[in-house]
Amino acid sequence: MTGTPPAGDFLQLDERLTVEERAVRDTVRDFAQAELAPHIAGWYENGVLPQDLGRSFGKLGLLGMHLDGYGCAGVSATAYGVACRELEAVDSGLRSFVSVQGSLAMFAIHHWGSEAQREEWLPRMATGEAIGCFGLTEAEAGSDPGSMRTSARRDGSDWILNGTKMWITNGTLAQVAIVWARTEDGVRGFVVPTDTPGFAAHEMHRKLSLRASITAELVLDNVRLPATAVFPEVRGLRGPLSCLDEARYGIVWGAVGAARACLTEALEYTLERTQFGKQLAAFQLTQGKLADMVVAVNNSGLVAAQLGRLKDAGSLLPVQVSYGKLANVRAALDVARTARSMLGAAGITLDHTVMRHMANLETVYTYEGTNEMHALSVGAAVTGIPAFR
Ligand code: FAD
Repeated sequence: MTGTPPAGDFLQLDERLTVEERAVRDTVRDFAQAELAPHIAGWYENGVLPQDLGRSFGKLGLLGMHLDGYGCAGVSATAYGVACRELEAVDSGLRSFVSVQGSLAMFAIHHWGSEAQREEWLPRMATGEAIGCFGLTEAEAGSDPGSMRTSARRDGSDWILNGTKMWITNGTLAQVAIVWARTEDGVRGFVVPTDTPGFAAHEMHRKLSLRASITAELVLDNVRLPATAVFPEVRGLRGPLSCLDEARYGIVWGAVGAARACLTEALEYTLERTQFGKQLAAFQLTQGKLADMVVAVNNSGLVAAQLGRLKDAGSLLPVQVSYGKLANVRAALDVARTARSMLGAAGITLDHTVMRHMANLETVYTYEGTNEMHALSVGAAVTGIPAFR
């Protein structure tokens, strides 16, 4: 064999994708590069997203794409992962939009909802006509969601919800919020139409990360819901944690996309720019950095591909998802920081992607379970000793 594999797919993992998975990759990559990449710096700078983004993603079949029925595409977990990778190669905020819609809000309804809840919401969410958000975190309950204060109490057959959720992606865009609240029967999930009296969403500003994503505070002030609004079966944190596992799986792949984009930009830049009379890429120190980045990006790709195969086989364990998020987000952040430095002063601007990715990855490192939480999960698995508290 001769030839050079591409830096971003050095192990030629994409050759193992099925025809359908490659088609998803090409469709999402083409759309992302043509329709999203040219505008992302402006959206990021202004802290906005285009109004029709949900419908555009819906038309592409990206929303709830790994779910079956109810207008969802029903593709493999690997195809879903590849889509996350190609979106996050443009921006983590764009992948977050799709993750929250498909893996948090739609998955919650699909997996835990009643048939009526599924039929009411999922078809409209798959097209992007209805946007969903997922309210778990509170100001005083982040890594430890079991300490949440938001409550739901019975009033006749109705439920009355009170509390405040923080850091909720898509909160002000949503027509439906999945809200997790404590009840006398443990934590339960509620499907809350956002036009219900007493519900309000306020956009959170001044973020330095994930700026092309809308983040909100949700306020529930005596929100009255019918008995049919609650997820019928699930009790306790296994409800929200099962949804987070789905979204974390997408992050494992998305981080590969962000890292690959940083590697590509650093490579192109250092091949182009000269100092001391030669290309930056011709210096040994630069090549050392590039080689480490190639290894990091492609090893992350291997992790994602293996988790995808396990998920498609139905045998992926939550702690393996923790492993993937821990490994791949940390690797992506390292790659982004190195790439940022390799672009010198140019690297700090929005004319290049590296610092935007680097700043975004600080959020990705923190949400859906911080780096430390996933380290503790892996630590508990290998020692048999939980050290969370
Ligand atoms: P804390 O839990 O206060 O943690 C602070 C630090 O302490 C971290 O480094 C953490 O790892 C460390 N720490 C905590 N406990 C331990 C321990 N036992 N041992 C060692 N270290 C520990 N939430 C939602 O519900 N829905 C959303 O859509 C959503 N979107 C988000 C979007 C953005 C942009 C951001 C930034 C956050 C979002 N979140 C969302 C919230 C996110 O999931 C939480 O921020 C995350 O779980 C961490 O909680 P915290 O910020 O309260 O940090």
